[in-house]
Amino acid sequence: MNKPGVIDREGLNRLIQTLIGRGYQVVGPTVRDEAIVYDNVFSIEDLPAGWTDEQEGGTYRLKKRSDDALFGYTLGPHSWKRFLHPPERRLWQAQKDSLDFDIVPEQPDNTKYAFLGMRSCELHAIAIQDKVFIQSPHTDLHYQSLRQNALFVAVNCGQAGNTCFCVSMQTGPKVEAGYDLVLTEILDDSHHSFLIEAGSEAGKNILEEVKAGPAGAGEIKKAEEIVTNTAKQMGRAMETGNIKELLYENLEHPAWGEIAERCLSCANCTMVCPTCFCSTVEDVTDVAGDHAERWQKWDSCFTMDFSSIHGGAVRNSTQSRYRQWMTHKLASWQDQFDTSGCVGCGRCITWCPVGIDLTREVAVIRESTTCQEENFSGSEAQNENS
Ligand code: SF4
Ligand code: SF4
Repeated sequence: MNKPGVIDREGLNRLIQTLIGRGYQVVGPTVRDEAIVYDNVFSIEDLPAGWTDEQEGGTYRLKKRSDDALFGYTLGPHSWKRFLHPPERRLWQAQKDSLDFDIVPEQPDNTKYAFLGMRSCELHAIAIQDKVFIQSPHTDLHYQSLRQNALFVAVNCGQAGNTCFCVSMQTGPKVEAGYDLVLTEILDDSHHSFLIEAGSEAGKNILEEVKAGPAGAGEIKKAEEIVTNTAKQMGRAMETGNIKELLYENLEHPAWGEIAERCLSCANCTMVCPTCFCSTVEDVTDVAGDHAERWQKWDSCFTMDFSSIHGGAVRNSTQSRYRQWMTHKLASWQDQFDTSGCVGCGRCITWCPVGIDLTREVAVIRESTTCQEENFSGSEAQNENS
């Protein structure tokens, strides 16, 4: 949209102050409880300087880097959905008077969030949630209000994690759309700077106030190399060709039973997933029965109650619940929203307590199907020869 500029650490601090000065609540990465989470950020002092993360199936550890990188980690347990689609929120209140009761609806939240440090896969995840909450016949006014006010400051990934597979899902690692500003952190023995580029009028306007210096050809080339190298480091890969048909044709595959022997039905995978959007409602009253409230809370297809209708739960085995989750993510989501429900962030692999890995499970089903086809064509050839 306009020429890239360059800022140093102080320039990044100026960016944060500019956003705060314009009334934004800046949320970005910070270290808490031995993880990098998203929380309010007031200066670069709040960012996870010199920290990185090591991830594997069922494992997440923070580790010190040998440098002072501010965005030198991959992804933590939080995703931005906790701000745009919070884990719990009140929908309305009812107050009893002498003869009747009044319903007091909740007003949409007008907070202006500026999200700092968003990765490409996370921008894709928000685009998917937009389809669910805004571009559908039933607009979620709360989400819509927060989404319209939000400003996105993205960062190109400088390293990939062991559970990342955004390249397979075509969602990263290069930030290409949906951002207001995008940074690439450039760090060597003598320099620590950020290539910064605007992707919207709002971003351009902010960039003018931040006063970035002009980017040289060397810095632009270096930034491109960083993201190209990240793409080569993906810890996981998933073959996505005909994945919808593959899963629909294998609803009775023995792999589902094998996964169920390990799966705890704990719902962690759905809580950390940036695209999972299911919720339930709970009604509460005071002891006197004068005041009632309805709350919306995140729910998960892994709970027994989730599929409960008259007569009991429809999916009453872990096998059926895992199959529902994975086939929805990778297959029926395509029918429903014309996109995959997975952006390859790898959180469900890292934060699964037993390390269940959907890339592996897809590969197991695909491999067995390929073997069956090979055996079938092998026996056909034998028959023809005999
Ligand atoms: S299914 Fe797993 S890898 Fe895919 S977007 Fe959700 S958490 Fe990330
Ligand atoms: S797949 Fe893992 S994270 Fe998801 S419900 Fe089963 S045990 Fe929990």
